Amino acid sequence: MSADDFLAQLRAHVGAQGPRHEARHPITGTGIADWCDAIGDTNPLYTDEEAAAKSRHGGIVAPPATLDIWDRPGLPAQARFRPQGLPAADDPRSKVLRMLENAGFVGVVAVNSELEIVRYLRPGDVLTNTQTLEEISEEKQTGLGIGHFVTTRQRYETVDGEHVGDLLFRILKFRPGTGKTAAADPNAKPAPAADPALRPRPAINRVNQALFDGYRAHELRIPKCSECGRLFFPPLPRCSECGSFDIGYAVASGHGTVYSYTVVHYPQVPGFRYPIVTALVELEPIDGQVVRFLADMVGVTPDAVTIGMPVEIEWLDSHPAQVEDATDSRGPISLPQFRPATPTRRAQTLSAAEVSEGERLPIWTLPLSPTHIVAGAIATRDFQDVHHDRDLAHKKGSADIFLNINTSLGYMQRFVTDWTGPEAVVSALRVRLGAPAYPYRPLTFSGSVQSVDAGIGRVVVAVQAVNDLGPHVTGTVELELPT
Ligand SMILES: [Zn+2]
Repeated sequence: MSADDFLAQLRAHVGAQGPRHEARHPITGTGIADWCDAIGDTNPLYTDEEAAAKSRHGGIVAPPATLDIWDRPGLPAQARFRPQGLPAADDPRSKVLRMLENAGFVGVVAVNSELEIVRYLRPGDVLTNTQTLEEISEEKQTGLGIGHFVTTRQRYETVDGEHVGDLLFRILKFRPGTGKTAAADPNAKPAPAADPALRPRPAINRVNQALFDGYRAHELRIPKCSECGRLFFPPLPRCSECGSFDIGYAVASGHGTVYSYTVVHYPQVPGFRYPIVTALVELEPIDGQVVRFLADMVGVTPDAVTIGMPVEIEWLDSHPAQVEDATDSRGPISLPQFRPATPTRRAQTLSAAEVSEGERLPIWTLPLSPTHIVAGAIATRDFQDVHHDRDLAHKKGSADIFLNINTSLGYMQRFVTDWTGPEAVVSALRVRLGAPAYPYRPLTFSGSVQSVDAGIGRVVVAVQAVNDLGPHVTGTVELELPT
């Protein structure tokens, strides 16, 4: 069959509307709480009956980013797990996706997701959705591979016919292994390998032994004169205040602020990922004394670092032991690094008058682990293997498991509503996906207020989440704040 004939067969389904699909179960408080645990969202309106009863909602509500998770078919949607006798899904998108898979387009990534929230969902709601297949692109060459974009719209109602929201959703189905590879520049030097074990081992001696012993236990020790109590850094054999050689240590909390920083691009040596942000961090006072500590920053792009930015420690276990039980340079090495501190959730909701256009939200860095990715996928009821099974992710052309779009949306919602406070009402979440969010690549969320209409309390926040591969999500959160 020619590509044109295949496209014509696919496009025969465009405009088709699926049957009204009803969720198998009502929304439950347990399902909501699992989502909150996976996303780390502690907004009490989702889990605390008493706080929720006093809120504008009058009771527990589901987070707005969950609109499209409750009526998902769950694991039986995967052919391998479908119970005998249960027919395959017959909505237009499922039909088209099967045709694409049979034609070799087995890779899949979500590209756009736009949720419009008409009203917040509540435990006990039983959702239905009606899907319309809106568009199928012609065959396109993308970075991931040759494929087709498939766009659907879903209208969500309760079983009583109350309209609660809408979703525009676009995915790319592609042939693994057909991605664009950048033309090799014959003059380009390859970047040095970034495995931290390739770094030179630090020289451990009498002066800094106690510090490195602490680092191994992930304890940030600061030299302290045992005579006069003065704290200082870097370590010295002798107190510059009183001259004593009796030097002990104090333990720092690991929290501080950026006092100054520089960005290192060159020379590039093995063991580091460039560019490197090196920061002079003013540590939280210890015994009333302020100490500044020099270390690398991680989980942040250089342009997002600001003077005064709150930071917290992140340990790097950089070198395995060369000699068992060695406590000198041949022992295991851990190094202190800093990342942007996790912003605290605002307890009192901002009013629209307190927000100004252009205002930046505090940066949030999420050290993304496989557990974050798998927990997010399961809590959003997404059983696509690429989000939990590394072997199958490899087979489908992906370097690793990756974050599903609903979890990205969840994190984005949490990032913005932690900043606004619990009673902000989200009316829309719109994202475009870029670089995949793989494990062990920290995701840094930044945002700024795009517009404020103080009269009606409408605020739009632009959000971006970036990892070292580039922007992962770019989007907006539209909300209503108290006026
Ligand atoms: Zn002293």
